[in-house]
This record gives sequence, C-alpha cells and structure tokens, in this order.
Amino acid sequence: MSYRSISYWFDSLGTDPIPRAPLPGDLEVDVAIVGGGFTGVWTAYYLKLADPDCRVALLEADTVGFGASGRNGGWCWASVAGLHHHFERDPEKGNALRQAIGATIDEVGAVCASEGIEADYSKGGGLTLTSNSAQAERVRAHVEAHRALGWSEEEVRWLEPAEVPNHMRVASCHGAMFAAQAARVHPAKLTRGVAAAAEKRGAAIYEQTRVTRVAPGRVHTARGVVRAHRIVLGLAGYLSQLPDYRRDAIPAYNYMIATKPLSRETWERIGLSGGTGFGDASRFIIYAQRTADDRIAIGGRGLSYFYGSAIDPRFEQNPRNEGLLRKALRELIPDLGEIEITHRWGGAFGISRDMTASVNLDPATGIANAGGYVGDGVAASNLAARTLSDLLLDRKSALVELPWVGHQSPRWEPEPLRWLGVRAGTAINASADATENRTGRHARLHDVALRILGANLEY
Ligand SMILES: Cc1cc2nc3c(=O)[nH]c(=O)nc-3n(C[C@H](O)[C@H](O)[C@H](O)COP(=O)(O)OP(=O)(O)OC[C@H]3O[C@@H](n4cnc5c(N)ncnc54)[C@H](O)[C@@H]3O)c2cc1C
Repeated sequence: MSYRSISYWFDSLGTDPIPRAPLPGDLEVDVAIVGGGFTGVWTAYYLKLADPDCRVALLEADTVGFGASGRNGGWCWASVAGLHHHFERDPEKGNALRQAIGATIDEVGAVCASEGIEADYSKGGGLTLTSNSAQAERVRAHVEAHRALGWSEEEVRWLEPAEVPNHMRVASCHGAMFAAQAARVHPAKLTRGVAAAAEKRGAAIYEQTRVTRVAPGRVHTARGVVRAHRIVLGLAGYLSQLPDYRRDAIPAYNYMIATKPLSRETWERIGLSGGTGFGDASRFIIYAQRTADDRIAIGGRGLSYFYGSAIDPRFEQNPRNEGLLRKALRELIPDLGEIEITHRWGGAFGISRDMTASVNLDPATGIANAGGYVGDGVAASNLAARTLSDLLLDRKSALVELPWVGHQSPRWEPEPLRWLGVRAGTAINASADATENRTGRHARLHDVALRILGANLEY
C-alpha cells in the first residue's frame, strides 16, 4: 500500500514509508503507549529522555503519523482547547497553562535542532485575520485580555488594517492579531522524526498492530498481549473506536487542500514570510501555511461528524468543503485566480464533550490519556507528553500542576442524540459566521443557542 495519498505531507516525505514490523507476540514493558501520533511519539521520546531505563513500547495500528498528526495544518501555535474555561475558573492557573503552551513552541524547535529532525520548523508568528467588524471586535478583546495578563506587545498585538500588509497583503481586512509564539512545521516529518528519535533512545515501536482492548496492566492486540504497569492512550478521535471509551471523544473530520508551488513573484506580491502562518477568526476558522516548497496548504471552514462516531477512508474527501476553501483563498488573495489544487485530504481529530483538552493518569488503573485537543494538537500534544512523562515517572513538577491535568470532561450523549447535537452545533456555528459576514454584528443569539448546546467553538 502507498501512503502518499494520505495527505500532501505524506506525499512530500521523500520516500513512501515502509511500516515497521508488528508486535511479534506477548511482551512485558514498563509503559505501553497506544497510538503513533504526536501524543504517542512525544510521550515515548520524553520518557526515554527522562529515564533511559524505562521500558517503553508504542503500538500503532497502521504507520506513525497515519492519524491527524500526519494530516494537519502544521500550525504549531500557542493555544489549548478549552483554555478559556480554565481562565474562568482560576485566572492564575489559566495563565500558567497559557505560559506553558507559549514556551512549547520553542521546545518543539529545540528538539528538532538537538535531534536533527528536519521538519521545516520555522517560527515566524501567526496572523489571525478578521473579515468583518464582529470578528475584529472579538479578536481585539482577545488581545486586550492577553495584555491584562501581562503579555507583552512583542508577544501578542493587534494590527490595524493599515499595518496588516507589513505581514501579508490580503484583499480586505478589518485588522488582525499577530502572535509571535507560533511556528510552521511539516507535521508528517515531525511525527516521524520524533518517533525515530524515541526509537534511537530505546523505545520499541510496533506498527501494523491494532489494539483491540485495554484493561489495567494489559493491552490486547491480535498479535499478543502487552503487559505494562502504566498504559498511555494517545488516540485522539480514534479513542471512540475502543471498547469502554466510545463516548469519551468524538472523531470530527476536517479538510485541507494544497496549491501547486507559487512563483517567487507571487510570493513577493503576497508578502508572507515562510514561517508565518495565517488564518481567520470565523467560528469555522481557516488555517494556512506557506509550505517549505512554496505552496499554500489551507484547511478548515467546517467540521464533519458521522453517525456512531464512524471513521472511514470514504470520509476523507469532501468536495463541498474543498469549494469553501477555494472560495476563502480567492477572497483573501484574488490575485491567485483559479489556482491549481494538487492535493486534497481529510482527517479526524478528537473533541471532548466540553471541548476542553486534558491530561489524565488514573492511579487506580495505571491508564493515562491525553487528548481532546480539537484543532490545536500540534503544540498541545508536546506539552501533554512532557506532562505525561512526569506523571508516569511520578515526578513532581510545575507541569503536573497545570489545570488541564486531571480535568474530567463529561461523556458524549448516546446516539442519535450525539449526531443530532453535533449537527445542530455545526449548523448554528455556520449560520453565526454567515450572519456576522452579512451584518458585521456579533451573532449573540447564536451564541446563546450554542451555549445551551455546549457547542461554542470559542475563539
Ligand atoms: C485536517 C486537520 C488539520 C489540523 N490542523 C491542525 C493545526 O494546524 N494545528 C494544530 O495544532 N492541530 C491541528 N489539527 C489537530 C491535530 O492534528 C491533532 O490534535 C493531533 O495530531 C492529535 O495527535 P494524537 O497523537 O493525539 O492523535 P492522532 O494523530 O490521531 O494519532 C492517533 C494514532 O493512533 C492510531 N490508532 C488508532 N486506533 C488504534 C488502535 N486501536 N491501536 C493502535 N493504534 C491506533 C492511528 O492510526 C493514529 O496514528 C488538525 C487535525 C486535522 C484532522
């Protein structure tokens, strides 16, 4: 099987990956990790870094990076799903999490440098563009909230419409937020590079090994049972496929496209440096980067959930969403015209019921879980993995005191309520975007409805 069609990222790896060997039979280790995405590979890496004697085995159903980690936008930004909830409960703890995720951007770059991982890491900040006054009002308030918490002008600032062209020339803009703590990465190279670094330090990685069930001390696969005192679930949206965890997260599909490489002259007109990502402040945001080979890779503008938390390769293409992404590109950069799209793909990320990411270790069962990152998992998974490493090795640290540790999200409703609720939530979010685009005014009634549903994609 060729992996090149998974995403532009897999297609641009250089070589088509050949999966590592599967689990050869029963095994005993100290820590068994389920899932070879960012959460899994970073956890394996940090565990071996902290304790070279710790016996670590990672089990991946397919190949490392096969899930969301090898398909995402490569935005390594300082955000964590549900951060605003922590601020509401305890501003000091919320701020500690915000500082920790901010520092994570440099940590990812530092590991790439120290381990020689060539993942096109480039830290050029991120632009959140606004396209109507309701978005501008929200983003301005967001910048002011940062300022009130002590964030400096260098770290986060509001750009007036006249200042935006200094970073990127777009057709029309009501202003933007510039956040310095943001980097661009090639996500598949990063996931696979971190896996190789973990392996070099002694972690065992078994691919083509699907876990069928997890119980305290035991991970079951068709190829054998792995016994481990500690088990880590790094499954994001796939968690919903595991018995006993079906309602802990839902898999939500997001879609991306990549253009052909743009000419130097076009990039000079757009004026965006390589490491600067851009997106907007809609409810259904777009997120985009200039790739190392000068394409635009852009995703977002919607979210698809399939009945019964289904995951299927048939869901990975979405022509309607592709149309919305093309339209977003045309509106932002009309100069591009009908640019050739060379790649289109989709993948599922995990959403918890309260849209809040968390890191947990249950001391009674020895089972740990990190996820619920929604569309903010690139940086958050690194922070989660360092935290998991401290929890698993029983090390007291500032990381284990962060407010997302131990956070318990409620479970999702059974079907058909789950499907109906997600459908209603996505329809209201899309309608809120349309209303704000049309009127320029904050869609407050939509917000009330979303709050009742508990489906507010809070910016
Ligand atoms: C299209 C898209 C765009 C995104 N863009 C961004 C972005 O720009 N920035 C950002 O921060 N986040 C983004 N995200 C979210 C981010 O990609 C995820 O939050 C993150 O990759 C989750 O990593 P993970 O390791 O927890 O899960 P995954 O990467 O999904 O890894 C889970 C792994 O588990 C494996 N697996 C599944 N079932 C089993 C089983 N039973 N046994 C063993 N292995 C199993 C899968 O094959 C997979 O490799 C995006 C997501 C998508 C889908």
